[in-house]
Amino acid sequence: MIPHSKPTIGKDDEEAILRVLHSGQIAQGRITREFEKKFASFIDLKDGVALNCGTSALHLSLLALEVKEDDEVIIPSYTCTALLNAVNYVRAKPRIVDIDRDDYNISFSEIEKNLTKKTKAVIVPHMFGAPVKEILKILKFGLPVIEDCAQAIGATSNGKMIGTFGILSIFSFYATKVMTTGEGGMVLSNSKRLLEKIRDLRDYDEKKDYKIRYNYKMTDIQAALGLSQLRKLPDFIKKRKETASTYSRHFSSLGLRIPEFREGHIYFRYIIEQELSSVEKFLRKLRRAGINCKKPVFRPLHHYLGLKGFLNSEDAWQCSVSIPIYPSLTENEIKKIIESVRYLFVEK
Ligand SMILES: *Cc1c(COP(=O)(O)O)cnc(C)c1O
Repeated sequence: MIPHSKPTIGKDDEEAILRVLHSGQIAQGRITREFEKKFASFIDLKDGVALNCGTSALHLSLLALEVKEDDEVIIPSYTCTALLNAVNYVRAKPRIVDIDRDDYNISFSEIEKNLTKKTKAVIVPHMFGAPVKEILKILKFGLPVIEDCAQAIGATSNGKMIGTFGILSIFSFYATKVMTTGEGGMVLSNSKRLLEKIRDLRDYDEKKDYKIRYNYKMTDIQAALGLSQLRKLPDFIKKRKETASTYSRHFSSLGLRIPEFREGHIYFRYIIEQELSSVEKFLRKLRRAGINCKKPVFRPLHHYLGLKGFLNSEDAWQCSVSIPIYPSLTENEIKKIIESVRYLFVEK
């Protein structure tokens, strides 16, 4: 079975981990600090705080922005449940908004419609590796924007790295993401003040005062893997773009909806869409052919909350299929995926 996602791990990654394992310092230490600095520099930001996961990065970002009970935080429906959890961790009110149908990202006009006096922040995920088109217009609302770059490490927009637009940006290094530390996350920013707050909240030990703090630390074992993955990140991204362009070349005549080509897109996911209601059948047939494809968002957030409307999120959820696209896919696997998709569409 060709898995839907798979980390790209090499000998260099193994060696990096073993060096730390044998060093006698395996929890958060010098290597984690080095990873923070090198990752921040890759994204063109001043500094970062490494954490145990992306969800923690969202949580501590909201705390650093002093989002509290009864404040509202705008998030899209068609995204990862981590956003909803983070808003609920701080007991704020999630204000769910719809997406743009063309690129699956949070809609500028829907944000505008949902602004209230209580809006304290907006979390803007760049879904599937595609930079949010109207990020500059979203910034003009003057609200703190947390960019969620969990799926878009290395993507660019308006000639700048994704993650450099918001006041804070968060990243995930979960096993299925663009680069991995197993579990892991980071907050980046140019604001020393906000990063200091987050650094203070990450670790509870040996503090002068008491307040609620968290144990959200990354280990040096993970950071070593992160550093060695970071070295290969430009190659990972190049490979993703090449595979996406190969897919598009072979699928463009099938009458499917395929991703539009965009310069700054890193194709974390390659989404194809087809007629409503045939998606489940299509997924079953591909699995039978030995290819594990998935809906790229398991369930939109408005479903969990029992909310009506959200027509674009609903439609995207019903029609979208994510096919495997990761750097370790072999030529043969790519060929098999192309042939199977083509066969199913010609057959239909
Ligand atoms: C994966 C993901 C997260 C959460 O990251 P974890 O490391 O799994 O906690 C947040 N936002 C988006 C858009 C994601 O894809």
